[in-house]
Amino acid sequence: MLLELKDNLGSLTKALEILYVLADAKPVTRQIFYNDKTFLDILSKNNLSFVVSDFKIIKHVDKTRNYSDKALKVSLDHPQQGHPFIYISKDKELAKKALKNEKHDDHYSLGRLLGYPDCCCRFFEKNFPDASKGTSDLLPFTFNNSYSINYPWQNNYSLRVFDISLLTHFPCSFHCEESKKIALRNLSIIEKHDTDIASYFRQALKCVVIYSEGIGVYSINRFKAADDIVEYSPDSVIPSCKNDFYNLLKRKNNIKVLGKNNFLIGNVKIDDPHTFFALFS
Ligand SMILES: [Zn+2]
Repeated sequence: MLLELKDNLGSLTKALEILYVLADAKPVTRQIFYNDKTFLDILSKNNLSFVVSDFKIIKHVDKTRNYSDKALKVSLDHPQQGHPFIYISKDKELAKKALKNEKHDDHYSLGRLLGYPDCCCRFFEKNFPDASKGTSDLLPFTFNNSYSINYPWQNNYSLRVFDISLLTHFPCSFHCEESKKIALRNLSIIEKHDTDIASYFRQALKCVVIYSEGIGVYSINRFKAADDIVEYSPDSVIPSCKNDFYNLLKRKNNIKVLGKNNFLIGNVKIDDPHTFFALFS
């Protein structure tokens, strides 16, 4: 069922959200609705209720991350191509409530219905107005809210651009304990369905990340970290976007970390409030 859902939704992490609802880990999930019969059959086979929005959304894709956090709500008869949202739950009333919250831009209440922790819903509500002036990516706000450069791998939400994540929300900080509990619970749900995906996620999430707003996201899987020096294998750099920054990482093999926005890749200094270094372990 998981692979079938993945084909339908075009994303493993979005497909996993259906499993989280079935396992009572998430009251409601919101998905883009492609009006696909197979998808609706899966929902009805699993006794899941749903409501479809009476508006559609037009996605705005950030090309440096190949990912969309931003969507414009328009009427169904708008000439531009778009798709409605579908809200899926075991309880139809909750699905209806989620749609209502979405229509009223009540981010806090919607987040709670989608199963996000109170602290992270407040964080979203507070920072969304600023984030929505750009790409609506709240991860730079998470980085700014996180102290140090070492974070628990379970809360690594920066690889969602590669369709790898245990979380389905922006954590208020990479140290958020409530998010970590959710990530571990989701991992145990994945393990029951597919141990390969569980171990793939577990390995992939333990990595070095360089997250640069408007430039790209880079994950490095093979590395050794000692004190403030990270030695890495250039072959293990995975980019969301191949550009000069990627070429730089490929040419060098070590990073000297002075702070989360301040580091040296080989002998090239990066000192930029929009570029973050992180080690998830
Ligand atoms: Zn939180």
